[in-house]
Amino acid sequence: MKDEYIQDYIKAGKAVIAAKKLAKKLIIPGETFLEIGNKCEAEIIKSGCDLSFPINMSLNEIAAHYSPPIDDQTLIPEKGLLKIDVGAHYNGYIADSAFTINIDEDPKLQNYIEAAKEALDAAIEKFEPGVQLYELGEVIEEKILSRGLRSIKNLGGHELKRYNLHAGLFIPNYKNKIHNQIVKPGDAFACEPFATSGVGEVVNGQYYYIYRFLKKNKKNMPYEDIAFMNRIEENFGRLPFSPRWIENKGLIPKNKIKMTLRTFKSKKIVDIYYTLVEKTKEPVAQEEHTIVIDMDGNRIVTTKE
Ligand code: MN
Ligand code: MN
Repeated sequence: MKDEYIQDYIKAGKAVIAAKKLAKKLIIPGETFLEIGNKCEAEIIKSGCDLSFPINMSLNEIAAHYSPPIDDQTLIPEKGLLKIDVGAHYNGYIADSAFTINIDEDPKLQNYIEAAKEALDAAIEKFEPGVQLYELGEVIEEKILSRGLRSIKNLGGHELKRYNLHAGLFIPNYKNKIHNQIVKPGDAFACEPFATSGVGEVVNGQYYYIYRFLKKNKKNMPYEDIAFMNRIEENFGRLPFSPRWIENKGLIPKNKIKMTLRTFKSKKIVDIYYTLVEKTKEPVAQEEHTIVIDMDGNRIVTTKE
């Protein structure tokens, strides 16, 4: 019998696999981001898990953090690189995984996906107790460079802890010896290389679609806002959420969601995540898996079939 929490990671991993499979099937030019996003998130719930962050559906030069907003009308385009990044948790144990769809199977864009995939596979191969995190970055960058592309250096993998998506340690997407910590039994990480033809750096975009509850602030707050604040904390804890979820769960009347979140942002009750855009607006591919090292030192890739 394996450690019980490993089973929870595997259960979260299965939910993520199911959501990615559904995304692959539903992504067709002309369909809406909103409908696909909602269906993939519902698939995670159907698998008996909870969402650990809103689905990310980031197109071309947007590397991460586009999630369909309420009433989003955006349609899947005829071509481009669409990154689908999904997260589930069971009992707080999080699986985080992403892949990239080459909408019209453009061979030039396929190279970006292959670069990210080869980088991730190489890092997973090396992922065992005793390896230093920058050594994973080193193989990631090598693989991506060998396909004539660059890895994005200010994005990277991260440690996963219970109910904590970005917990402490960082896996760089290049050889950076600052990250000299060692992988140990019991550790869990998401590893996520990004490949681009750009300079290999992301900057904040103009917009944001993902929020996270930080802390209560009841000072000078109308009674109603305090109720909304409590509901957000109760429902999402400290994990990222989408305004769509507030609407779907009826936590705040629809016509008040935008204003309430604006107020909560200004009072530092919630934090926001800007879209992350490649600095030179070049296309980006991402591949991501969750890797757990069990107490015996075995490597378990929870989001791989
Ligand atoms: Mn992810
Ligand atoms: Mn991640």
